Amino acid sequence: MIPVNTPLLSGKEKEYLVECIETGWISSEGPFVKRFEDEMSRFVGRDFGIAVSNGTAALEIAAKAVGISEGDEVIIPTFTIISPAQAVSKLGAKPILIDSDPETWNMDVQKIEERITDKTKAIIVVHIYGLPVDMDPVLQLCEKYDLKLIEDAAELHGQTYNGKLCGSFGDASIFSFYPNKHITTGEGGMIVTNDAEIAEKCRGYRNLCFQPEKRFVHDEIGWNYRMTNMQAALGVAQLEQIDTFIEKKRWIGQLYTSLLSELSDKIELPKQSTDYAENVFWVFGIILKDNVKMNALEVMQRMREFKIGCRPFFYPMHLQPVYNTQGWYVNESYPVAERMAERGFYVPSGLGLTESDINEVVKRLKQILE
Ligand SMILES: *Cc1c(COP(=O)(O)O)cnc(C)c1O
Repeated sequence: MIPVNTPLLSGKEKEYLVECIETGWISSEGPFVKRFEDEMSRFVGRDFGIAVSNGTAALEIAAKAVGISEGDEVIIPTFTIISPAQAVSKLGAKPILIDSDPETWNMDVQKIEERITDKTKAIIVVHIYGLPVDMDPVLQLCEKYDLKLIEDAAELHGQTYNGKLCGSFGDASIFSFYPNKHITTGEGGMIVTNDAEIAEKCRGYRNLCFQPEKRFVHDEIGWNYRMTNMQAALGVAQLEQIDTFIEKKRWIGQLYTSLLSELSDKIELPKQSTDYAENVFWVFGIILKDNVKMNALEVMQRMREFKIGCRPFFYPMHLQPVYNTQGWYVNESYPVAERMAERGFYVPSGLGLTESDINEVVKRLKQILE
């Protein structure tokens, strides 16, 4: 079996975890939490890091901390995991959707300005699969219309946009440390920011809005979204290896690209680079061209028969039953995202992948498509 993801826990993960157990520090009060926050925020060049229980929690906290509230509109891509959308809708605000750029698979930033209204409060950019969103036009719009900006960098630790690290843009950025991300803590997330006030709010929202002076007196409602010392111990060990992890992701992506190039009449491969970034191939996505009779689900089913785990692409937000039943997006169409969802999937891409795994995946895919 070649699973869609296998993490690589090849550094000091075990040593640091043993330290948690031997010292008895297992809760969020333990010293690895602060250390992971400091090291991760320093890594991306931010002043503050707030470690939380997962990337979705990080988005919820960040959305509230930048001031998104009832009645606001927030611009997000339609092609995304649901986390940014639900961070907005749970606050009583409405996600306004943007179609994808067919080349980079990210939000088409040229389509943002026409969707800005008096109610627009913020933009959430989501870097998808390996290339960052084209940030300069987004930064200009935020400046021009006085909008908040949240950067969802959950998939792109260590990737850069014009030489500047993802996670360093906007009012706040978030990361996920789920096991398929570039660095993992099992479950985990972090908000990073340069704004002391936002950082303070995030710390409060993470911890039930307990107050330092009057602990059980609350001025606001928060969450318990704390990260444990054991998760942070893994995070510190993983961050020590980020450079080799990024190198390995690029090696995987380039090997797949060269081996699959002879199928280029049948499949569309991820773009290698743009003028602002080299693809880091967080996952290796494939889009079936129109001449292939099968759709993505059928190809994935055939791959499963060869014991190879694949995943479908994201399902666009405008087609989500949970939003359609409340009357949202019912007459909206975003053709690029719709096609990607129907025709796209990704092959095993985790850091634990070997060259023979990649050869096997390619061999089976060729067999299925030929
Ligand atoms: C993984 C992911 C998240 C959510 O992170 P969790 O830790 O799984 O909650 C959010 N946004 C993007 C773009 C992701 O890929």
